[in-house]
Amino acid sequence: MLRLRVGLMMSVVVMGVAAWAGHEHIVQRNETLGGIANRYGVSVKTLQLINGLSNPNHLVVGKKLQIPDGSIKQVPHVVKSGESLSVIAANYGLSASKLASYNGISKPNLIRVGQKLLIPFGKAAPLPPLLGSSIIKELNRTKPTRGKWKRIVIHHSATNVDDAENMHQVHKNQRKMKNGLAYHFVISNGSRKAKDGEIYIGGRWKNQFDGGHVKRLQWNKESIGICLIGNFETRRPTAAQLKSLEGLCRYLAAKTGIPDSKITSHKCLHPGHTVCPGKHFSLKDLLKKLAVRRPSS
Ligand SMILES: [Zn+2]
Repeated sequence: MLRLRVGLMMSVVVMGVAAWAGHEHIVQRNETLGGIANRYGVSVKTLQLINGLSNPNHLVVGKKLQIPDGSIKQVPHVVKSGESLSVIAANYGLSASKLASYNGISKPNLIRVGQKLLIPFGKAAPLPPLLGSSIIKELNRTKPTRGKWKRIVIHHSATNVDDAENMHQVHKNQRKMKNGLAYHFVISNGSRKAKDGEIYIGGRWKNQFDGGHVKRLQWNKESIGICLIGNFETRRPTAAQLKSLEGLCRYLAAKTGIPDSKITSHKCLHPGHTVCPGKHFSLKDLLKKLAVRRPSS
């Protein structure tokens, strides 16, 4: 599956830029992707994307890597089932209109499975997709109620070891919340039964129910609640959690039209009421990442 995708990717890259102008590098024993990237003056992300390497630590001795020489300006993406143009664009950090115009698409609703799109990038490294295809597929099963969602509120669980299933039980049985899990999404830190960065889609999102994560009724009606597992008063969120959060925010913004200015944290929405999501969670850093729309030029 991976080999097929790489093969397809390479042939499309070659077609897309007329000729492959880069070098080829054969991975030697004890080499790392970082070391190879350094040697050729390219970024690790660029090598990953061009060579279809999802895990930079899984490098096989003898593998041929394509090294771009600066003339590569785009990489291909084959449309998979359940993907829309706006979702694909958001996952690469592009606007849907930019991606549509780059590919000469006048009707963004009419893309089809198997269609090849070209993802442009500028001088900076391209952004590899933030979310995996399986979670995108799962997210696509829910159609957000039009006009309902006005903001995204980020929380922490204030517990370092927990998972969504357990939180659901606690909210339902101890807090007596009829719909259980008060948040729409939970992003794991790898404790208990979930993987680090794993996104759990709660029943309230699947059913488009109000949240139960903030104090006022009106806020709960119109706010999407995302909870990251961890106590961020004492430790930082993991890198995988932050990547998933960025991907999820981009996805939800693309689907609901929520602007970045309405992506907030619990304590920013309700000052003086809570320290959630803790002093080690930086909303500013998240908003900075979300503001990058590559390529901007
Ligand atoms: Zn909170």
